[in-house]
Amino acid sequence: IKLDVTRYVEQNLKLQEAASVFEHTEEAIIITDSHMKITSVNQAFENIYGYTFEEVKSKELKFLHSGQHDQNFYESMWEEIKLHDKWQGKIINRRKDGTLIPVWKTIKVNRNDLGNIVSYIAVQTDLREIERNQKRIDFLAFHDALTGLHNRVSLEEYLRNLIVSSKRNKRMFALLFIDLDRFKIINDTMGHEAGDKLLLDATVRLKSKLRESDFIARWAGDEFIVVLDNIKSMQDVVYVAANILEVLQKPFSFDTREATVTASIGIALYPESATDPDSLIKNADNAMYHAKAEGKNNFQFYTKRLSEVVQRKLSIDISLSTALQNDEFYMVFQPQYDLENHNIVAAEALIRWESKNLGFVSPEEFIGIAEENGTIIEIGYFVFEESCKAYKQLREKCNSLCRIAINVSSIQFQQAELLEDFLTIAQKYKIEPYEIELELTERFVMSFVEDNIKILQQFREAGFKISIDDFGTGYSSMAYLKSLPVDTLKIDKSFIDDIGERSGEAIIKTIVNLAHNLEYEIVAEGIETEEQEKFLQKLHCEVGQGYFFAKPLNIKTIIEKFT
Ligand code: C2E
Ligand code: CA
Ligand code: CA
Repeated sequence: IKLDVTRYVEQNLKLQEAASVFEHTEEAIIITDSHMKITSVNQAFENIYGYTFEEVKSKELKFLHSGQHDQNFYESMWEEIKLHDKWQGKIINRRKDGTLIPVWKTIKVNRNDLGNIVSYIAVQTDLREIERNQKRIDFLAFHDALTGLHNRVSLEEYLRNLIVSSKRNKRMFALLFIDLDRFKIINDTMGHEAGDKLLLDATVRLKSKLRESDFIARWAGDEFIVVLDNIKSMQDVVYVAANILEVLQKPFSFDTREATVTASIGIALYPESATDPDSLIKNADNAMYHAKAEGKNNFQFYTKRLSEVVQRKLSIDISLSTALQNDEFYMVFQPQYDLENHNIVAAEALIRWESKNLGFVSPEEFIGIAEENGTIIEIGYFVFEESCKAYKQLREKCNSLCRIAINVSSIQFQQAELLEDFLTIAQKYKIEPYEIELELTERFVMSFVEDNIKILQQFREAGFKISIDDFGTGYSSMAYLKSLPVDTLKIDKSFIDDIGERSGEAIIKTIVNLAHNLEYEIVAEGIETEEQEKFLQKLHCEVGQGYFFAKPLNIKTIIEKFT
């Protein structure tokens, strides 16, 4: 007998392969005979359904039916199999333990060469995992992954519906915009895991202070939005907001450490402050910023007045971006004079803005915004250059003049090349650095003291004079004062205003004595009366500045009037 060994081996290998697939695939495979009695099942079948082969052997496929589908369903399935030898679809079956299980099922008919049915093969994919994932995906579409709270999409939908029903039923509701005050620092210094834990803890605490029917969403990062439905009065809202503040200011504990955060809350009421979702959220957000500005750890209601403030800020913000190109800025100068002989010794440069859109805007109003939006950098260079130009003119006419005082914002010092740029500009006008005094706020000098002192030292080594503006209003530590690279202290106007009152005078005396002991020069600013001037003269205060002597003026007027 001639045996084709090669073919035999090949066939055998194929069979082995098939057997291996049969056993190891993740799909349940059931094979029946032509009468639909089970002849074999694979391991996956046993895993998915919980039956062993022995338990199902010779049983009809039917025994897996769950009762979830009606007769029609199975009839049309067999119709299809008769026609095409194949059916595919989702079907719910029953496991041994009685639980239902969704599967994706493919039934194929296996025929021999004569066309007679030999067997049926049913392949079933377990859909439980896939459906679980789908549910999770659906959940995530409307919820925040970390906290499980509603997300923005969900909030907006909720608000739309709530507005419709509140309008119909003439009801009021409140939207609370909650921002954690120190979250960023904790996240940055203690790590994201700690940050996540804090957010989860905060979520639990928030829920503990709300009713089941109140709606909580995570808006972003450390921002939450709570909606209090159907409130009767503002008092209800105040009560909840106060409770939230209280529960959030208790320390949060981490593995080994504790940290405290507080919250700032902005509140918008429907229909009083707005009647659409976007405006409600925006208004509550604005009120939240107001709460921050008011010192954090408090809540603020949105008001029309607040909206005007925000609106004004916004238009200043926008107008600032083109002000420099449009030549809307100019400088004025206020003389600083020797209190003894009334000679002008210096001038403080003060910026003025005549905006095309807004009219005159005071620096008190726009400098802060220019610092926020970064335009202060360019404005700062303009101020410096214009001041140099003016000083050069005045110096030619005024022999007693020794220097120009220029206000510099802390933001400008973040520019690494500021010192070099200032030196270049000064050189251009043939002005020595010691003729320029940079006025800095006390707050800048005192915050992050070490770094800022290094920067100031560099400016001083280059020859510039440094003056602390508004001295006495910040939190100068007297201990620090003697190690500061500073030449001049400018006593804040609020102290000068107190001259005539005993306690006020005592404070000025102390400051002047202290400054003299530490060998700083003193400039008293905001002198408005003769009485004030006399008092300062008696204390041997060197330099004065204020409306009593001269208001800020343009350089031409100063030259005309004082030289
Ligand atoms: P500051 O540096 O404390 O300036 C003194 C302010 O007091 C000036 O207001 C000045 O006009 C005003 N003043 C002077 N004498 C008297 C007085 O006798 N009575 C009263 N009531 N006020 C007096 P101004 O020019 O409106 O400036 C306000 C603030 O804006 C300045 O406070 C300063 O912080 C900032 N600023 C002004 N110009 C500049 C600038 O060019 N750059 C920067 N970064 N800030 C500037
Ligand atoms: Ca100043
Ligand atoms: Ca000042």
